[in-house]
Amino acid sequence: MTQEITLSQGREYLAIPGPSVVPDAVLRAMHRAAPNIYAGELIEITRSLVPDLQRVARTSGQVAIYIANGHGAWEAALANTVAEGERVLVLATGRFGIGWGEMARGLGAEVDVLDFGKQATWDMEQVAAALRADTGHAIKAVLATHVDTSSSVRNDVAALRALLDAEGHPALLMADCIASLGCDRFEMDDWGVDVMVAASQKGLMTPPGVSFVFFNDRAAEVRARMKRVSMYWDWVPRGDPQEFYQYFGGTAPTHHLYGLRAALDLIHAEGVEHVWARHQRLAEAIWAACEAWSDEGPLHLNVADRTLRSHAVTALRIGSPHGTALRDWVTSHVGLTLGIGLGMAPPGDPAWHGFFRIGHMGHVNAHMVLGMLGGIEAGLAALDIPHGSGGVAAAAKVIAGARQAL
Ligand SMILES: *Cc1c(COP(=O)(O)O)cnc(C)c1O
Repeated sequence: MTQEITLSQGREYLAIPGPSVVPDAVLRAMHRAAPNIYAGELIEITRSLVPDLQRVARTSGQVAIYIANGHGAWEAALANTVAEGERVLVLATGRFGIGWGEMARGLGAEVDVLDFGKQATWDMEQVAAALRADTGHAIKAVLATHVDTSSSVRNDVAALRALLDAEGHPALLMADCIASLGCDRFEMDDWGVDVMVAASQKGLMTPPGVSFVFFNDRAAEVRARMKRVSMYWDWVPRGDPQEFYQYFGGTAPTHHLYGLRAALDLIHAEGVEHVWARHQRLAEAIWAACEAWSDEGPLHLNVADRTLRSHAVTALRIGSPHGTALRDWVTSHVGLTLGIGLGMAPPGDPAWHGFFRIGHMGHVNAHMVLGMLGGIEAGLAALDIPHGSGGVAAAAKVIAGARQAL
């Protein structure tokens, strides 16, 4: 009698685009008795987070912290800047751009969406035309997704600032860096970003539940002119608290603060620039594998142009039902969880099963990436999905620093 042997025991690997892998140092920091919230260490830790968050975001602007996921930061950013009936321009390159626009509509804003599809970046001519058409400067903010996690398209935020300046348009530039902060190079001040949103569970390597809105003086002036901002989302007391409870508009997220402290220590011990370089090299290894597999058969990278690919997440098209079959196979046989395709086909449509995503954000190193790619390659073989050979070998070459044969 034969018995199928699965090989998924051992430490599991969640390779999805958030939540990301939580480092042991973060887990250890969180494993403690409930701390004193009135005095002592927790207060000091919270104060110490602010400059270290600013260093990751490359800004001298303020940061407001929310006990919320990324959707909460989306709402917070809008609640402080856009009143009911005011206009925003959304540049969408995937599901998350669309989602932020829906959030604005929910708050009563007039929302113009420029939708560039799921595989391309912004068409700057179209953006320029939309800004030029707005002769009365009714557009209060441009909502830009730096990396859209559903498509894995990475957009050029600095170029958008240059365009706004060239057109002389005063709209706030608001960037969603939830998937990119601590992964892809992002320079809030140098790139002229007025408002930026991020969350704890992606490049910041801390469990979901805390999110951030960074804002500069221009944005603070816009906030000051708002007739009314809902008290809970108001970033003023959070950014400049007079009392400790004001950081969070109530009880502090105690254990998350310890975890985030440990995560920021990891980032700054490595150095932000090195964190970006590591993500880039690991992404290049993943692309090398995927490009080799795509030489034959149905697997293709969603974004063809390397310069437009995120260094934190890679979206793949593989045809239905291969995406779901592959994800199921690596979960049960390798102990590896891959991301679902998001926004590529409606749930319920058989085509939904033709996509998957690899998360490679945060606490990820070369052996994890090689193991993850090896698991996918084994799955392609086990499921008889036709694919080009040499994917893992191509990734190993990148990691070895060798030039890839093209
Ligand atoms: C994850 C993500 C979000 C949503 O964050 P949640 O924590 O799931 O609410 C928004 N935008 C981008 C770019 C993301 O990657």
